[in-house]
Amino acid sequence: MAADHTPLTRRQALAALTGAVLMPLADPAAGSVRHERHFLFGSPVDVMLRHAPESPGDAALASLASVMRGLQHIHAQWNAWKPGELGRINQAFREGRSASVTPALLAMIRSAARLERASAGLFNPGIGGAVQAWGFHDDVMREGARPAAATLAAWRDAAPSLAQIEMRGDRVASRNPRLQLDFGAYAKGVAIDRALDEFAARGQGDALVNLGGNLGATGATGWQIGIRDPFGEGLLASLATQGREAVVTSGSYERFRMLDGERCTHILDPSIAAPAQGLVSVTVLHRSAALADAAATALLVAGPLRWREVAQRMGVTQVLAVGPDGRGIASGALAARLQFASRDWRGRIATV
Ligand code: ADP
Ligand code: MG
Repeated sequence: MAADHTPLTRRQALAALTGAVLMPLADPAAGSVRHERHFLFGSPVDVMLRHAPESPGDAALASLASVMRGLQHIHAQWNAWKPGELGRINQAFREGRSASVTPALLAMIRSAARLERASAGLFNPGIGGAVQAWGFHDDVMREGARPAAATLAAWRDAAPSLAQIEMRGDRVASRNPRLQLDFGAYAKGVAIDRALDEFAARGQGDALVNLGGNLGATGATGWQIGIRDPFGEGLLASLATQGREAVVTSGSYERFRMLDGERCTHILDPSIAAPAQGLVSVTVLHRSAALADAAATALLVAGPLRWREVAQRMGVTQVLAVGPDGRGIASGALAARLQFASRDWRGRIATV
C-alpha cells in the first residue's frame, strides 16, 4: 500500500477532482497525519489518521489498512457497470427473476428507498437504465450523439423506482424490468459513513476519508477543508469540519459528455430522463455522508428554484449551490462557517 507521512500539498490536494479538498494542516502541534492513497471509484481515495507527533501505533496502521480494504470491497461489488453483486442483481431484474442479496446491500437499498421518497424522486438510484442510455456507464467520457427520444420516453413511461423492489428474506425482485440499480450518487456517501464507523469502532476518533472530493471527518480538532471553485483550479471557500461531519459535492463540471455538440452532465433529472440543468454544483454538509450524497444529487437536479424545498424535505440545512452564471447561494447555517477564497467569491454568494 502506498503510504506517506506528509500532509498533502495544495497542488496534490487540488488534483482530487470535484468537491472538496483537504488543506495543509496549519498547526503542526495538532499532530501528524498518517495517509494512505489509492485510486478507486475512478478517483483518488485517501484515508488519514491524525496521531501524536511520534509515529502512529500498530492499531492505527491496522485501522487504515482495514478501512481501505472495506472501501475496495464496496468499489468492487457496487459498481453499476462492472461485474459484482449489483450487476448480478440488475441482470435478474431485467430477466424478471429474484436474486440473493447481501445484508449490506439490502440495507443500502432500504435507506436509499427512503431518501428517494424524501427527495420527491429527484434522487432515484433505480435510474441505471437512463444513465446507461446516456453513455455514462463507462470509464471514458466519449463524444457522441444523444440517445433516441423513444428510448428515453420508454424509460420515463416505465418510471423505475426503488419502491418497485420486493424484498423477501435474503432475496430481492423487481416488479419493473426496467429498474436498474445505480448507486453512483449514493455509494460513496455510504462508504464514507462505514469507514468512519470502523475508525470509531477501532478507537480512532480523529480521521478523514476522501472519496474523490467527497469528505467525511471525525475529531474534536477539526480538519480544514477547501471547497473547489467549480469553474477553475482554485478554491471557492474553506471551512473547518466540526466533530463528525461529511462535506459532499455533486457537480456537473467533472463528469460530462459532449453529445451533438452539447455538454451533458452525468446527473440526470429522472422526470425527463435527461441531464439536470440549472446548477453547476451543490455542496451539502451533514453528519451522515450517505444523506449528504443523496441530497447533493437531489438538490442539483432540483435546480435554483426548487432546491430549498427539497433540502427541507430531506432534512438538510447546510447547503452551497452555485449556478452556471457563477453566482450562488449558501444557507445561513453554512454561510456563517465559510471563509471565501477571494473577495470576488464573497460577492457572488448570497446568503438565505
Ligand atoms: P458525483 O459523481 O460527482 O459524486 P453524484 O453523487 O450526483 O455525483 O452521482 C452521480 C451519479 O449518480 C451518476 O454518474 C449516475 O450514476 C447516478 N445518477 C445520475 N442521476 C441520478 C439521480 N437523479 N438519482 C440518483 N442517481 C443518479
Ligand atoms: Mg450524490
